[in-house]
Amino acid sequence: MGIELGRRRAWQRNTQAITQSLLGLFLTQPCPLCDRTTPQGICPTCQRQVRQSQLDTPLDASHSGLTVLSWGRYEDTLRQLIRQFKYSGQPELATWLGIEMGKTWQHYQQSQRRPAPRPLVLVPIPLHASKLQQRGFNQAEQLALAMERQVQVPVMGAGLVRVQATQAQHSLSRSERQANLAQAFQVNPSHLLALRQTTVWLVDDIFTTGATAHAAAHVLRRSGISVAGLCTVARAELQGHP
Ligand SMILES: [Zn+2]
Repeated sequence: MGIELGRRRAWQRNTQAITQSLLGLFLTQPCPLCDRTTPQGICPTCQRQVRQSQLDTPLDASHSGLTVLSWGRYEDTLRQLIRQFKYSGQPELATWLGIEMGKTWQHYQQSQRRPAPRPLVLVPIPLHASKLQQRGFNQAEQLALAMERQVQVPVMGAGLVRVQATQAQHSLSRSERQANLAQAFQVNPSHLLALRQTTVWLVDDIFTTGATAHAAAHVLRRSGISVAGLCTVARAELQGHP
């Protein structure tokens, strides 16, 4: 009996030690923006700073044929966070951003009187294979997966395929951008029938000219797939674009 009790206590101590060291590991995660330790992924101070770029009106109604929702403006700390997420190999930074996007999207959906006639799916704007290999992940897909947890709408990660690497869009004129993008996307043939039963919400990190989103929506619609809109983390102000 005494031995049994001793064993149980030793086991409890071990379990406690393991739990504490795991908690300790989690608690000592540095905030990606300021390096302060935080249990929250992004520390509360930086969250407040990022929220200064949150848009009061996420809906950009200036794009005919496509509902465009963005969580914030591409500036300051939000811009820093997105860049860190994309270029420093930290796909886990999508979690906080994707959940925030999900809340924005839910708010918009609740404001719509008519429910969607078909089940919704989230389709991330794909990266070309060479870019994907270089970065190791598709930032739009990571955001969509975090959104999925918040909004309970499934992600169809391979719904669209990027068949052609595009040049950097900012170096091109408007018509060149459109021509460049028109050939860039294809509907994944193995998902075509499933996608036709749904209404698609596209997901991307940054909305700039809208050329990418319009090209992707056009390719889906041409294949008989319904597209409701696009949801992004941030909207960039256009400067120097025609
Ligand atoms: Zn911080």
